[in-house]
Order: sequence, then structure tokens, then C-alpha cells
Amino acid sequence: MEESIWYDYKNYNASYTKLNRNITTEVCIIGGGITGISIAYELMKKNIPFILLEKDTIADKVTSKSSAKVTSQHGLIYHEIAKKYGLRHAKLYLEANEKAIKNIEKIVEEENINCDFREEAHYIYTQDKNRTSAIQDEYITLKKLDQKHIELVKKLPIPLECVLALKVDKQACFNPRNYTLGLAKILSKKRKCLYEHVTINQIKKEKNHYLIFTDKAQVTAKRVILATHYPIKDIPGFYFFKMYQDTSYVIAVDIEKQDYTGMYIRVEDPIFSLRAIKKKERTILLAGGNGHKTGDVNIENRYQFLESYVKKMYPNSKVLKRWNTQDCISLDNIPYIGEFSTYFPNFYVATGFNKWGMTTSNIAAHIIADKILKRKNPYEEVFKATRYHAFKNIPKVYHMLNQTTRSLLLYKLKIKKDLIDTLPNNTGKIMKVEGKKVGVYKDEKGKVYTIFPYCSHLKCLLTFNALDKTWDCPCHGSRFDIYGNVLNSPASKALK
Ligand SMILES: Cc1cc2nc3c(=O)[nH]c(=O)nc-3n(C[C@H](O)[C@H](O)[C@H](O)COP(=O)(O)OP(=O)(O)OC[C@H]3O[C@@H](n4cnc5c(N)ncnc54)[C@H](O)[C@@H]3O)c2cc1C
Repeated sequence: MEESIWYDYKNYNASYTKLNRNITTEVCIIGGGITGISIAYELMKKNIPFILLEKDTIADKVTSKSSAKVTSQHGLIYHEIAKKYGLRHAKLYLEANEKAIKNIEKIVEEENINCDFREEAHYIYTQDKNRTSAIQDEYITLKKLDQKHIELVKKLPIPLECVLALKVDKQACFNPRNYTLGLAKILSKKRKCLYEHVTINQIKKEKNHYLIFTDKAQVTAKRVILATHYPIKDIPGFYFFKMYQDTSYVIAVDIEKQDYTGMYIRVEDPIFSLRAIKKKERTILLAGGNGHKTGDVNIENRYQFLESYVKKMYPNSKVLKRWNTQDCISLDNIPYIGEFSTYFPNFYVATGFNKWGMTTSNIAAHIIADKILKRKNPYEEVFKATRYHAFKNIPKVYHMLNQTTRSLLLYKLKIKKDLIDTLPNNTGKIMKVEGKKVGVYKDEKGKVYTIFPYCSHLKCLLTFNALDKTWDCPCHGSRFDIYGNVLNSPASKALK
């Protein structure tokens, strides 16, 4: 899988500590993406003792592949939230996200983090005459919610076709890797609290604390925060019932010195999202979207769609990079933040960010820090992770289950007794070998790699991703390389 454009910029170096002795701490944060690091920063500000355990390296997963729009405008959501949960709920969601933009801006300024934070307008646009009423509904709802700086426009400031767009000013974007590593550097300077390359084997609840067993040492903590993107603990919590992962594609395109302004997202499928990295000498567009449920086997032409869309606007543009990653999608499009389960006191989670984790990670940091300090947070009810009403989204639940079953059944039916010799080079497939299912990949030179094709998370049958040459889980979105190593959680064990 290709690295994103964010690795091309000079990054901060933080110093990390080796976990070589048992530790007792107040809070143990697990996961070092933007979420874990933002929570750690907030705890440091509030003088709450903590350590953070990262299984690989800090800011190296979804966060460093994000398009990193920092916005309260997450597609057409406010009209939907207001319809489902009422205007007050929608207002709180909006307020929390608008506050998060300001919080991030303040952190960047105060801590002097070099992450190209920049204010931009966000346009939610349609090219379909039949979708204009949806944009108008969103505009009316946002007006009712007292959102400032909004207007409806029929023309965009870049050569992008549009029938109607909702323009929202005072949104932002940044470099997510530099922001997260910048915070990590501050944290590691002030406290020895960040541990990389720590594998967590088990988390056990004791009477008044938790025991975290790792491959290096044991951690005893009064409180645990799961910031692992997809929660690494299944029971209780049952997040695998109320979430799935969705993959999106991004290309970085050099458009030279073109005049470019704004961030964009198209409302109809396939989703198309745009923002720019602006450097003195050139502008690089990040065009993203065209997603699908992780594990889906229909993944052809995902990048080509993005490329031809950009080429139409900027014919002389040049693609620099392509990458993809996945995010967790909640049932009601509202993230799950707060107590992990009513059976696990002092155990928190932040997940289900629906591809809008830049502001949401900041919201999570405040909600969880307030919970630890037993302070009321005005937004905790909206994001409550243990809410049941998310299940009321029948179409989404149906879609999730249907997609999972369909991928599994279709794929299962396709599996024939086969000879590995018949598999063409550079392809992968589940085959029946001596009566047993085996995941077989043959590389360009004909070398064969085999894996036990059941996800190490909950034993779903894997599918072969021909684009990235990975084995993907259509149920919960874990991904593995051709050797069986875990690339994406919730799975934590390699395949045999
Ligand atoms: C293509 C794409 C574009 C996006 N664009 C935007 C955007 O424009 N704006 C926006 O707001 N959001 C966007 N998002 C969403 C956003 O990028 C994510 O929501 C966010 O980065 C998630 O951060 P995280 O810290 O939760 O996860 P991660 O960055 O994945 O961090 C989780 C960390 O936990 C670690 N971990 C996992 N398991 C364990 C374990 N067992 N033990 C220890 N550590 C563990 C991982 O190694 C990782 O470092 C986008 C998402 C996608 C897919």
C-alpha cells in the first residue's frame, strides 16, 4: 500500500520510551493516531497522569492518510440529524465541531506547530438537478441552527461543474501527520509518556482497575481509553454490530501554479472531495472519495475515476501519489465517544468517525477528559457510545448486514476446487486445496504465498484485494498483507 503525500514533508521527531518494566498509572491510552494523541494532550493540559501505548509507530495509520479537512460540514448531515433526533441535537453536533476547529487553531498557534493550518471555505455541491432540494434543506436547517457565514451559490470559484452548492466559510485544513507528530513531540518533551511498538495481548478488568498485558510488560491503570480506530476489545461493547469500515481513495495531483481556493465535497455517489496543499511554487490537489465497504471485491477503476475528474478541470495536471485507507462508519453517522460499555466503568472509547476524525478527535479529547474529571460536557449525550437509538437506522443496519452476507455468500459460492497451477501470476484467490480453503496469492514471478483465509478477529472469510494485494475482511474491515501480517485493526493477530 502506498504512502500518502504527508510523508513528503519534514516531520517532527518525538522521543519515545521503551516499555521495559511494569507500570502503574491513572490512565492508559491505547492507540497513537490523532485521537489518542489529542486525548493525551488534553489530559496533560488538565494534569491527569497517563501513558500512551502504540502498537507500531505514532501517527502512521489512518491519520496520516487523511485528506484532513478540519470542518463542521460533514456532507449533508444536519437536516438528517435534526429529522432523526431534533434540532437541539443537531445544534449541539454543530457547536461541538465548530468549537473543535477553533480549539485546533488555538493549539497550533499556542504550541507553534508547523502543520500548514489554513482557513478555507467548504462547498457541499451537487451536479444533479434532483439533489438541489437536499442542499436547500441543509441550508434551511443550518440557518435554524444559527450557523454563520453560509450561503447558497450556483457557481464555484474553480472549474468544477455545479448545479447548486452550500458554501460555509471559516472552515480549515492542515497536515494531519505534522499536527499529530507536533503534539507528540510536546508530550514527549514534557513527560515520558509515549510508548511505541507495544503489542497488547489482553485487557483484564479487576475490581478497581484494569490490567493491560503487553508483549513487554504489564500496565495497571485505573482507567483505559481505546483510541485504536476500531476498538480492539469486542465484548462487552459489541462495536462490531454497530459499525463497519469503508475504504476511500485519494490522489495527490500537481496543478502547478493554478489559482485555487476552497474545499469541496459532492453529495451524490460516487463521492468526490477536494482540497489543496498550497506551497509557494505549486498547488497540489488532494482529490478523494469513490469509496466502498472494506472487503468489497468490486474495486476496479477507483483511482481512474478521481484522475479523470481532476483532468477535466486541470488538463495539464500530474498525479504524484495514490493511496487509500478506511474509516469506521457508525449506524447514525454520529461517532461513538465516551463510556465503552455500561459494564466497564472507567473504560472509554472514541470511534465511528465517519471519515470526519479531524474535528471529532478534538471533541473526543474534551469529552473523555471531562468524564475523567467528573465534569459535565455539553456534548457527551450527542456522542454517547452506548446509545441504542443508533440501531433505529434500519436502512443502514440492513445495508451493513446485507453487504456483509452478500460478500460472504457470493464469494463462498465462487470458491471451486482448483489447482494452484491454474492461478495466473499477480493474482490472489481463495482456493480449495486438499478439501480446505486456502488464500493463495501468486506474485509477478509466480512465487506462491498462502494464508489461512479466515480473519483472526471474528473468523469471517477474507477477500483478496487485487489493487493493494491484501487480504481484506468484508465483515469488520481488518486487512492483512500477503504474509498474513495485520495492516488494519480490529484484528490484532497475524494469519497463519
Ligand atoms: C480517505 C479518507 C479521507 C479522510 N479525510 C478526512 C478529512 O478530510 N477530514 C476529517 O475530519 N477526517 C477525514 N478522514 C477521517 C480521519 O482521517 C480518521 O477519522 C482519523 O484519522 C482516525 O484517527 P484515529 O486516531 O482514530 O485512527 P488511527 O490514525 O488509525 O490511529 C489508531 C492508532 O491505534 C493503533 N492501534 C491499533 N490497534 C492497537 C493495539 N492493539 N494496541 C496499540 N495500538 C493500536 C494504530 O497502530 C494506530 O496508530 C478521512 C478518512 C479517510 C479514510
